This record gives sequence, C-alpha cells and structure tokens, in this order.
Amino acid sequence: MMKREINEECGVIAVYNVKDAATLAYYGLHSLQHRGQEGAGIVTHQGAEFHRIKGNGLVSEVFNNENILSLFGDCALGHVRYSSATGRGIENVQPFYFKHSTGDFALAHNGNIVNAKAIRTYLEQSGTIFQSTSTGEILAHLLKRERHKNQHNAIMQALNILEGAFAFVIMTKEGMYAARDRQGLRPLCLGKLRDGYIFASESCALDIIGAEFIRDIQPGELVAIENSKVTSHFFAPNGINRICSMEYIYFARPDSNIDNINVHAARKRTGIILAEEHPADADIVIGIPDSSISAAVGYSEKTKIPYEMGLVKNKYIGRTFIQPSQELREKGVRMKLSAVSALVKNKNVVLIDDSIVRGTTIRQIVNLIKNAGANKVHIRIASPPMKYLCFYGVDTQTYDDLVSSRKTNEELRKMINADSLEFISEQGLRKAIGHETCCMACFNKDYPTPVYQDNKE
Ligand code: 5GP
Ligand code: SF4
Ligand code: MG
Repeated sequence: MMKREINEECGVIAVYNVKDAATLAYYGLHSLQHRGQEGAGIVTHQGAEFHRIKGNGLVSEVFNNENILSLFGDCALGHVRYSSATGRGIENVQPFYFKHSTGDFALAHNGNIVNAKAIRTYLEQSGTIFQSTSTGEILAHLLKRERHKNQHNAIMQALNILEGAFAFVIMTKEGMYAARDRQGLRPLCLGKLRDGYIFASESCALDIIGAEFIRDIQPGELVAIENSKVTSHFFAPNGINRICSMEYIYFARPDSNIDNINVHAARKRTGIILAEEHPADADIVIGIPDSSISAAVGYSEKTKIPYEMGLVKNKYIGRTFIQPSQELREKGVRMKLSAVSALVKNKNVVLIDDSIVRGTTIRQIVNLIKNAGANKVHIRIASPPMKYLCFYGVDTQTYDDLVSSRKTNEELRKMINADSLEFISEQGLRKAIGHETCCMACFNKDYPTPVYQDNKE
C-alpha cells in the first residue's frame, strides 16, 4: 500500500533569520490550514541544535502558547498535512527531521513524486534501508548519497532525479533551500521580513505575518539562502509552467496570488465565463461556501441575477473531503451546511460549485435546497468534468472516485436531482485563469509528466 502515503496536497512555510521564527511559522501555518487539516508540525534550529513539535489535527490543536516557546531559534520550517485514509500515522506528519553525522536537517514538502517507487527500488538495490514509505525519506537518502558535494549541489542532484509535482523546503544548520518541480505544478513563493526571508506555499501566509512578497519560485528552480545571501539555481531547464489549475479552482485561498494571478479574480472570471457559456433562467445565484463564492459572484454580476446567501456554513467543521468513508462524508455535508429557507423558498436557483469529484456533495446540497422549498435548481460548475486521475498530489485515487468518468452529464444530472447541469469549457477555464499552459490533466488527460500507473495501485 504505497499509494496514499505519498499522495499529499499540503502547505509549507519556512522562516529564515527572523526572531521568534516558530511563532511566525505558526501564524503562517494558520493561514495555510485550508491546505491540510490532518497534521501540523514545526522544526526550528539554533545552531546545530534542532527542536521539533508535530502532531495530528489542526494547527490550533497541535500548538499552544507554552509548547511554541520551546521551539528556539531564528529559523523554522512548518507544515500542514492533508492526509488520506491510510496515511494517518504520526510518522507521516511533517516536517521530517533527520539526524546525520554530517549535520541534522529537516525537510517538508507537498505534492507527489510519480517515480517514487522506481527511485526507492533503485536505492534499496544499492543498500538503502527505508523506515517509511514517505517521499521525504527518499529525498533524504538521495541527499545524503551526494554528501561529498556542497549543500545546494547535493540538493540539485537529488531533485533532478524526481519526477512529478513538489514544493520542497529543506532546512540545515547552514541554510534554507526551497525548490519547485520542473513543471511548477505546486506553488511556492519567496518573501522578505526584516533581515530575513520566508518561503510559503501561498502568498496569503506572507501577508499574515507582514512579509513582503518578492516572487514565485520558478519551475525547476532551487533557491538557496546561506549566510543571508539568496542565490538561484536551476536543477532542470526553466521549462513551461504547468501550475495546477485546481489551485485556482479550489485549493488555494482567494487572497493568494499564484504566478501573478489572484485566485479570487480567477474564480470570479470562471463565473463570468460560465454565465456566458451557460446562462440560466433563475431568480437567485448561490455559491457553495467557501470555494465557490467567488465564481458565484462572477456569475451573478454577468447575468444580473442577484447573488444571495442561500447556504450558511458552520465554520467550525473541517472539510468534508478529508473524512475517509463515504458514509462519514455524507454525514459531514449535513453538519456543515444549511439552506436558508427564507431566501430559496419558491425560487429558481442557480447553484454554483467549483468542481464535482464523486458527486456526493452536490447531490446533498441540491436536496438541502429543495427541501428548503426551492422550485428549480440549475447547477453550473466552474471546472470541466473531471474524468482523469491526478498523479500530482490530489486525492483522487481511482476512477470510481470520479463520477464524470463513469456517467454522462445527463446521467449525473439525474443522479444529483438537478434541473439542469452544465460545466465550464476547457477553453473557458483557461481563459478565466489567464494561464496558457496550466495543467488541466484531470479534465483533458494532457499529463505534464510521464505517468507511472503503478502509483495508483
Ligand atoms: P464530491 O463531488 O467529491 O462530493 O465533492 C466535491 C467538492 O469537494 C468540491 O466542490 C470541492 O469544493 C470539495 N473538495 C474537497 N477536496 C477536494 C479536492 O481535492 N479536489 C476537488 N476537486 N474538490 C475538492
Ligand atoms: Fe491539478 Fe488536475 Fe493537474 Fe492534478 S491533474 S495537477 S488536480 S490540474
Ligand atoms: Mg465545495
């Protein structure tokens, strides 16, 4: 069972040379909490001495005023983890921390390495013994094989072997090293705070700690900070940027900018284009909170159909998607959302969602709205039908998970009890995001890397 442990869509933050680094990392992790709610950790170091706290659960559950104070040092590396049914163990919570005679180091990453199994087999054949199935451990072994080289050359050599999607940050006592995969599938940016620097999965983490955004890490780039000096190195030619379109559609926070595109603005444009492609005869527009609100605002603006807060969310319940079984997921949806009867009763509703994966969520919500008295429910989805598996860290495990790979739109419409169902086109989505080359493989099968089917066993 390799598959789930290496399948991660997480958040990373690193603080270099700023006083109270752990506290800053903690605030940063809070703002990245949407990228993973299953585990959190921070490692700091003061000279050669490393300190770590990690645990299962939300950032606020793992850290408190006391334990954060035990994380001494001006450098910190933090991580929030999105895990899956079988990858729950504390050993899988990051950052990983390795003790080594040449110097301890910590490592945090998100994404998925598609050739992990092949690299692992190769390393095992040359005598490496693995303790876990994590990608982090693979990278750690690769790094230490290259230990005769200077630090960033060793890291470059190791990164060059990896195929897939990743944002890595490595912290040693000499420096901080951040890398983005050669296709740029996962986001990672650099900011400045006082005399120090910050790396973060999303720019919203820089904003919350008052850091100034400097730039996104480029695809295939390793940024090294040693002795407070920032240098840039390319472990792979600076190729085409294939940032994941799902980052804009669903994963990222609306206030983040990824590769110079604001996430809320991109989502709002999906709503505008969806309205052009698929108008509906309705009285109100409702977005499913939180990720679909920007698109719903765009749809409403374009059609002049008023936007209403027809669904209210209980803020204190985690995302439905992370609950492992279908039964639990279904319960989760019911606990999370309520339809506002006073607004939807006897109305024809356009309901906007960002995406349909299994179809469970939308089916429940249509029922909620109809039970609250709505007349018709027209569904408009701000991404095309998701028909193909993602190999890059998104938790779509099998084709059974992808309802659009099994059903026609009409079959799906019936299944979810909607009066109409339409998706934005692929071209429409590209135009909305404003990124010519972003990855859309789960919609069009155009995978940016070789895919290794054994990854989805
Ligand atoms: P499902 O169709 O599987 O019941 O739920 C899809 C909804 O779950 C989407 O509207 C989206 O808001 C949310 N969601 C949670 N995690 C993910 C994910 O990893 N990928 C996608 N596409 N949607 C997700
Ligand atoms: Fe993102 Fe889809 Fe590409 Fe996976 S296949 S990286 S979810 S766009
Ligand atoms: Mg949703």
